[in-house]
Amino acid sequence: MDLSKLNPPQREAVETLQGPLLVLAGAGSGKTRVITHRIVHLLNERPNHIMARNILAVTFTNKAATEMKERLIHMAGPRAQGVLVCTFHAFGAEMLREDIHRLGWPKKFAIADMGDQLSIIRRAMREKRIDDRAFDARKVLTLISKAKNSGEAPQPKPEGMGDDYDLITSMVFADYQLALKAQGSVDFDDLLVLPARLLREHPDLHRKYTARFQYLLVDEFQDTNHAQLDLLKLLAGTARNVCAVGDDDQCIYSWRGAEVRNILDFDKHFPGGKEVRLEQNYRSMQRVLDAANAVIAKNPERKDKRMWTDRKGGPLVKVVACPNDEEEARFIAHEIQKHISLGIPADDIAVLYRTNGQAHPVEEMLREKNIPYEVVGGSEFFDRSEVKDVIAYFKVLANKLDEISLMRIVNVPSRGIGDVTMERLHAHSRAEGVTLWTVMRRADTYDDLPAGAGGKVLEFVEMVERYRDAFAQTPRLSEATHKLLEEIGFREATRAKAVSGTAADKKLKGVDGVLASLEKFEKREGPKASLLTYLNRLSLDTRQEEEEVPGQNKRVTLMSLHASKGLEYRLVFFIGMEEDLMPHGGMQGEAQNLEEERRLCYVGITRAKELLYLTRSTVRVKRGKEVPRTPSRFLEDLPPDAFEVVDMDAPRQGPPDEKEKNFFANLKERFKKPTAGGPGPGTPGRAP
Ligand code: ATP
Ligand code: MG
Repeated sequence: MDLSKLNPPQREAVETLQGPLLVLAGAGSGKTRVITHRIVHLLNERPNHIMARNILAVTFTNKAATEMKERLIHMAGPRAQGVLVCTFHAFGAEMLREDIHRLGWPKKFAIADMGDQLSIIRRAMREKRIDDRAFDARKVLTLISKAKNSGEAPQPKPEGMGDDYDLITSMVFADYQLALKAQGSVDFDDLLVLPARLLREHPDLHRKYTARFQYLLVDEFQDTNHAQLDLLKLLAGTARNVCAVGDDDQCIYSWRGAEVRNILDFDKHFPGGKEVRLEQNYRSMQRVLDAANAVIAKNPERKDKRMWTDRKGGPLVKVVACPNDEEEARFIAHEIQKHISLGIPADDIAVLYRTNGQAHPVEEMLREKNIPYEVVGGSEFFDRSEVKDVIAYFKVLANKLDEISLMRIVNVPSRGIGDVTMERLHAHSRAEGVTLWTVMRRADTYDDLPAGAGGKVLEFVEMVERYRDAFAQTPRLSEATHKLLEEIGFREATRAKAVSGTAADKKLKGVDGVLASLEKFEKREGPKASLLTYLNRLSLDTRQEEEEVPGQNKRVTLMSLHASKGLEYRLVFFIGMEEDLMPHGGMQGEAQNLEEERRLCYVGITRAKELLYLTRSTVRVKRGKEVPRTPSRFLEDLPPDAFEVVDMDAPRQGPPDEKEKNFFANLKERFKKPTAGGPGPGTPGRAP
């Protein structure tokens, strides 16, 4: 590999192959590049010792994993195929697929989704005589998840300390865990916790996995939580070949349990390692970098990092005030159109926002102007009721023990199996100590069911078992699903229930979406495709709030700041630069969150390579009322010579003028002629 494409500290990081290594450096300094090059170096330098399958690279999202893998294959050829690149959760799922039976789960376990989790919690609350309408099961779920990720079982706080929810959570926690296991499921957090248990409690498995994964690399280390660090430490074994890269200034997931201390205390967790700092920024031009440095410098507790670039000058950051959010969206769409006409590819443009709700006005304007775009995350696709029904069918077919999904579909579409019937069957199942399914199979032997109900239950059981066999025997899942939906009359029933024809179409589109995603899955998996792997794949994907977008590839990207981690675009619109949005509302009072908001702002700014717009509205409509808005405090931190204010009262319409054209022509020239050690031609889209 050509190590000349790296600067000296990057090279040092790439060539340090043994022992713990931390690369702590600012945004755009080439940390992710270090990871990919280090992997290629591992594969190249010691072909006889280090095999692709001995390398595990952990990324923050599935999307980042896919991109890194493609990059590796591009750089090192097909043998990079064997490198495992995935998120911590996907890695955990992989481990559990092989060995979860050692902890007493069935080998074919399912991953519970949030709906399943909430049902279990509500049931557990009811059994403890806690009113599940007075207390929000979601809050309990959040606390359970927090506990699992922090490695401490929920405890009731001492008198006068915690609130009701701490108490409720500690009361239902054990039941929740048992219920999940009883139905052969794990939750998302278990994908981290259970693998760690496997390694801790089973020395033979510890040997197996440490022998297999000898080289560990972790990107975005600043956003790991306790459970992930725990798993990483166990996997590292005695060799401790752990390379972690990250930036404490970009820790933006503390609300989900990320602990910035993991990176700050790296030396405590992996003593005796090496630390490398990178200071040259290759992504952004000077002005963007100046803005980013100035904003983040205001955070009190941070490791100071100086970043410089040899891409001097560059366009000033544009600070734009718009009369309202509609005008803000119109301005953005207009500028995007202009830049596309000037030759910036649509997929090198991003619109970033603090909350997903901000996307809508921009979407509308882009649609109006026929500018192709994709919205990353924030999709409620899998929350649609019909989609949930179809998925629940899959779950029942894949897992006999999944009683929650069974209850969801037993009378969908309506087949005359009512609540009374199911309650009685439940009672029998409890009394006899057997599963609900077992009881349903002999429904005709109970005489306390409503007239005719036993027969209907048997018919349903027969149908499910027939499809269970059918699905087990074919990898052509979408075809089997078509048949199933046909037989149960799912589409007609959906039509009959909908308030209008268009409403029905919308609902059925969701179902078609499921079929399309199944087909894609089948293509990818070939003869290995099974319902269970599909479901597990699905829960990994949706939890990361990502959606694969089919079709056109040159699109403007709309996404939240949180989703923009690690990515880069030539042109970035960072919108809603107002108090209450950036920093996000309700958080100003708490110093710690204000610091995280500042880090988010830093992440947003540092996504831009060339040109950055910071836009805001002076008025927003909230619940039908016009509310005046205050500019974000972060705007005040921008260095005066890094930005200009664009007057929006007189937006220029139409094609760009000569001055603008020349400016961009110059810019293009700059990118064609990189200075020594400087940036290559502006590579489109994503980080390597
Ligand atoms: P972030 O903190 O945002 O994740 P990062 O530190 O991971 O950023 P990269 O995405 O690896 O940074 O790199 C930023 C950009 O700089 C990429 O386009 C990358 O190709 C480029 N780059 C990194 N190192 C070099 C180098 N030595 N020479 C030329 N370009 C480089
Ligand atoms: Mg990166």
